[in-house]
Amino acid sequence: MSLSQGVSYLAIPGPSVLPERVLRAMVQPSPNIYEGKLPDITASLVPDLKRLAGTEGHLAMYISNGHGLWEASLANTMSRGDKVLVLVTGRFGFGWEEMARGMGLDAEIINFGEHETIDPARLRARLAQDKEHEIAAVLTVHVDTSTGLRSAVPPLRAVLDELSHPALLMLDAIASFGCDRIEMDAWGVDVLLAASQKGLMAPPGMGFVWFNDRADARREHADCATRYWDWRPRAKPELFYEYWDGTAPTHQLFALREAVNMIQEEGLPHVWQRHEILARAVWAAVECWGKSGDIALNVADANQRSHAVTSIRMGGGAATKLRKWCEHQAGLTLGIGLGRHPEEDYLRVGHMGHVNAHMILGALGTMEAGLTALGIPHGRGGAAAAGDVISTALRAPCPD
Ligand SMILES: *Cc1c(COP(=O)(O)O)cnc(C)c1O
Repeated sequence: MSLSQGVSYLAIPGPSVLPERVLRAMVQPSPNIYEGKLPDITASLVPDLKRLAGTEGHLAMYISNGHGLWEASLANTMSRGDKVLVLVTGRFGFGWEEMARGMGLDAEIINFGEHETIDPARLRARLAQDKEHEIAAVLTVHVDTSTGLRSAVPPLRAVLDELSHPALLMLDAIASFGCDRIEMDAWGVDVLLAASQKGLMAPPGMGFVWFNDRADARREHADCATRYWDWRPRAKPELFYEYWDGTAPTHQLFALREAVNMIQEEGLPHVWQRHEILARAVWAAVECWGKSGDIALNVADANQRSHAVTSIRMGGGAATKLRKWCEHQAGLTLGIGLGRHPEEDYLRVGHMGHVNAHMILGALGTMEAGLTALGIPHGRGGAAAAGDVISTALRAPCPD
């Protein structure tokens, strides 16, 4: 017996749920790539994506997933042998570090573990030793998707400024863009990364690198730069094909235009607030389950938790058992315990992008039913506690 028929919910932290509107926008014949609708859509997205990032800087777009953006950001700013300092709060920080090493850079790590965000004091201590300013960039993952940790960025900029350290501040916002507040210029971020398949609600395959003049000045001497990854022609194209250095990703652009329309119609502050409320609903359920069971949120401090993805520990392999039950019995696909040990003890709930109250409450009710069906000890009433979070939030006055 399975009750998985009907509309399924892919609650993994990317790719996220594609809205019907986005799917419909893609159902059309191939467009002319030289003039007409496609160049117009591309040109219209550039200022919109800058606004969403909170920047007046430049934007380079790539036909790429997130891994490619790690390479693009370094290729345009670094020379072989340059040193980068990677602030790690989970698997994705290590991914950027591996990319840096693969490009011939000297990558040093400060590992903050899997349960706490970046401590600016440790960054300060390391940079204070760097009298010769050998560290060319500080690489930071805003939300590490493997742990659900969300680090505060302005305190990192404050450390660099206080020490007058010239390192670039680069931010991987691939998991948080379109979910959590991001203000590139106000936060003093020099290079920002986001991809299409998470909060931007489009299929994977497009990546975005925003950069300011300070970062672009490094491009002059960056010997890691290669023609395809060069951000300059993409940011200031003279001909349309230069945006993508070749054929534009036609249907991805139709999708993204519609997704950005949806974000603009809702309003970015409301998008951020919706993600926060839905995240708090998830946390309330998990806290309730953990009252009498080996179940816990990966991040103890609510201020350090992502609003886009929640990592949950369920001891004794219960996480994998529950994940399989939800998928096969109930049509809910949860994220694996990526990069965690033992992986069977962790799962992740993706609540990024096109998600609303009934999807989250449905997911949590399903998880609770699965815990009961599998005989996994847990405190009861988790889904009801999540419902209380949502009903309370909806009684509060609307934000503008
Ligand atoms: C998803 C993700 C990536 C990698 O993106 P891919 O498209 O899988 O290459 C990198 N960083 C973070 C924080 C992510 O969430």
